[in-house]
Amino acid sequence: MNPQQFRQALADHGINLTDHQMQQFQTYYEDLVTGNEQVNLTSITERDEVYLKHFYDSITPAIVSPQLQNQSLTLCDVGAGAGFPSLPIKIAFPQLKVTIVDALNKRISFLEKLVDHLGLSDVTLIHDRAETFGAKKSQYREAFDVVTARAVARLSVLSELCIPLVSVSGIFIAMKASQADDEMTAAKHAVEVLGAEVAQTEKLSLPVNNEPRTMIVMNKVTNTPDKYPRRPGVPNKKPIS
Ligand code: SAM
Repeated sequence: MNPQQFRQALADHGINLTDHQMQQFQTYYEDLVTGNEQVNLTSITERDEVYLKHFYDSITPAIVSPQLQNQSLTLCDVGAGAGFPSLPIKIAFPQLKVTIVDALNKRISFLEKLVDHLGLSDVTLIHDRAETFGAKKSQYREAFDVVTARAVARLSVLSELCIPLVSVSGIFIAMKASQADDEMTAAKHAVEVLGAEVAQTEKLSLPVNNEPRTMIVMNKVTNTPDKYPRRPGVPNKKPIS
């Protein structure tokens, strides 16, 4: 997907990027490739692949949940790595207030320079683990309208990292490749215990290569019990079952 195809594919969904936004994506692409020489950010560096598998793919949550497009919501991206999915969403919808938390400081340092270079405001970058970031006394607990995560952990683990951050009546969007059904079955109990329920499971495929994707949207229906998330590493070792 070249940049013009990217622009058209989004326009087909009513998302119209300005020349300035297109320039921001070009800058993002260049900084990603340059930054990748110093820090391991991505295995995808070919331009058209970056536009499809990183930029377009990152914006799909705003296609599935159009409320992201029109309001100044607070959005937290857990384990964003090189900024996916939240920074492409932020470029497309600049009114959003974005917070990124990632356990790897080198990636946060890359993002600091990138956000500055792109001239984005209302982006907060935090080096932390989601388990402590969302813990009982954290100011970030249950503080976000929307929480996103892509390629961070299996759903049973991811739910414990992300659902505690979502405010009651907010949403959690988990971006998955094709094998989401088994993960959803395994995570069913965890989702309930953490105070959420699955509202929507959207199967889609990327343009151009038709790669399958599953987007799981959960509603936060009640407060998360204080004991979650457990200590760093515990959700992964012993997922709620
Ligand atoms: N979301 C990005 C994407 O889709 O390209 C990055 C995916 S990368 C495979 C996973 C990222 O999650 C890494 O940057 C890692 O540091 C971060 N991560 C993993 N576990 C985490 C945790 N418990 N708390 C915060 N970040 C975490």
